[in-house]
Amino acid sequence: MLYVLMGVCCILIGVNGGWDEEVGLLKRGGGYQREFDYFKLCVQWPGTYCRRTRHCCSNNACCSRSNSPSVFTIHGLWAEYNDGTWPACCSGRPFDEREISTLLEPLGKYWPSLSCGSPRSCHHKKVPFWGHEVEKHGTCAYPVVHNEHEFFLTTLNVYFKYNVTDVLFKAGYVPSNSEKYPLGGIISAIENAFHATPEVACSGDALEELRICFYKNFEPRDCAHDTSSRGSCPRYVSLPARGSWGLRSNTTAAS
Ligand code: 5GP
Repeated sequence: MLYVLMGVCCILIGVNGGWDEEVGLLKRGGGYQREFDYFKLCVQWPGTYCRRTRHCCSNNACCSRSNSPSVFTIHGLWAEYNDGTWPACCSGRPFDEREISTLLEPLGKYWPSLSCGSPRSCHHKKVPFWGHEVEKHGTCAYPVVHNEHEFFLTTLNVYFKYNVTDVLFKAGYVPSNSEKYPLGGIISAIENAFHATPEVACSGDALEELRICFYKNFEPRDCAHDTSSRGSCPRYVSLPARGSWGLRSNTTAAS
């Protein structure tokens, strides 16, 4: 009886996660997860995100002004479907920071968390921002990305190659607490540089995220949805300079 139970257990574990080489699809929950269609690189503007900071903690880059650069930082590299949906939590491998020990310096600088809150992992545990991103999105980037180290390295490389901050600053869209910029101009600057239309997201009238989409070979392409619309943004947007956030205290409470 014990052997039968162990056998059933092993079959269930096998069916629940992982890649089926023969079928060419991800196994999930007794069924198959369709392979993703394209990538979406999401970068966030700290000057906007950090305006929501009310309390500080050591792992929130909004609170450590010295080390964090005034650039768009990475939110994530997402595996997407053309119909506007996306797969999530595609394999059972939990985040292991030891796998990215050689990348901690660039990740800390260019992929910091801008929040004190700990997101949930796919296993319902509290994890760092990186753990959430790789478990939820990175595991679904197979068969292009094969493991955690490759996911973070690939994302950093794409981020450096398609430097959104550089493009916007060179086009004159620089951080300011008084200027407003035409959203159409910002979108055009990205289109001219990368030959693909980005997605945008705002918080109030401030630009918060830019999302650049890629084919699986990392050639830029239009994002499948939202390409002709302004997303959550008004016609004129701000790009708040750092230092205008409402920091109140150095407590460890989450914000
Ligand atoms: P996602 O949008 O990637 O599915 O989820 C992001 C999760 O990470 C949310 O739970 C959010 O609260 C948390 N988080 C932690 N740090 C950051 C950050 O710097 N930016 C964003 N957008 N989310 C963060």
